Amino acid sequence: SAAIIDGKAAAQALRDRIADEVGRFRSATRRAPGLAVVLVGEDPASAVYVRSKGKATIAAGMESFEHRLPADTSEEHLLALVEKLNHDPTVDGILVQLPLPAQIDESAIILAIDPDKDVDGFHPVNAGRLATGLPGFVPCTPLGCLKLLQAALGDLRGKEAVVVGRSNIVGKPMALLLLGADCTVTLAHSRTRDLPEVVRRADIVVAAVGRPGLVRGEWIKPGAAVIDVGINRTEGGLTGDVDYPAASAVAGAITPVPGGVGPMTIACLIRNTLVAAARRDGHLLPADL
Ligand code: NAD
Repeated sequence: SAAIIDGKAAAQALRDRIADEVGRFRSATRRAPGLAVVLVGEDPASAVYVRSKGKATIAAGMESFEHRLPADTSEEHLLALVEKLNHDPTVDGILVQLPLPAQIDESAIILAIDPDKDVDGFHPVNAGRLATGLPGFVPCTPLGCLKLLQAALGDLRGKEAVVVGRSNIVGKPMALLLLGADCTVTLAHSRTRDLPEVVRRADIVVAAVGRPGLVRGEWIKPGAAVIDVGINRTEGGLTGDVDYPAASAVAGAITPVPGGVGPMTIACLIRNTLVAAARRDGHLLPADL
């Protein structure tokens, strides 16, 4: 049966490395990298994410600036805050927690963030940089998935990768990252004809759909690596998009939910914040961070 990819351990190891690098950054530049996190409203899941992001930032030796705004905040008000953060020299990374209340246009807010402080990698300029192979910021969840795959498999060159789900936040950037790692990439989605047959040819499967157990054990090629991005709240607790018991009997390696991709997402946010600070100050970081 499959090796379990321990995302918690991988994330802790990455966070330890980042904390070391933050120490070197601070001695070299006499300042700490700073991450500003903006939360609008009181969505409980968002509040949990924001809290753990703030904690991880501080644990890495960085500064965390939290901005909590009421649910009825206007778009103009939020745009003005983003503009202020864009020009604040103590802020290296800006993260506006999504989803935003209905009166605010999310894409207008994302467009307003300075692309060089966009540590979530959601700005179209960063999407374009990823698509064309330029340095920029890559969304944290797919970046974490790539790091898990590289740690589990080493070189990904020539492998057949199938990504299920084509969102701008996960599926699309995941496909581009795997392409950049020289995989042969298929991007499947809700209109894909014969998804089981498409998944069957994959050496690497990344499931990012949001439907519990969508990817069946019989679809998995024996020995394949399976990355389950899905977070579904069901009566039985948190489950992923992959039928874990069946898939883990045939896969070579698989991420659990929880404890797989989730912890890597936050570690990569901290990583992107350090990278943003280092680029601004011309500070050199290890190429593989
Ligand atoms: P989304 O709803 O934006 O996109 C879902 C995608 O799945 C769409 O592109 C759609 O075409 C595809 N899809 C829907 N039904 C399908 C079907 N039957 N067959 C094949 N494809 C189908 O979702 P998202 O933001 O990409 O998130 C996907 C999942 O990942 C969710 O469960 C979300 O909670 C989770 N997620 C986890 C993390 C993390 O840190 N672990 C981060 C982001 C999202």
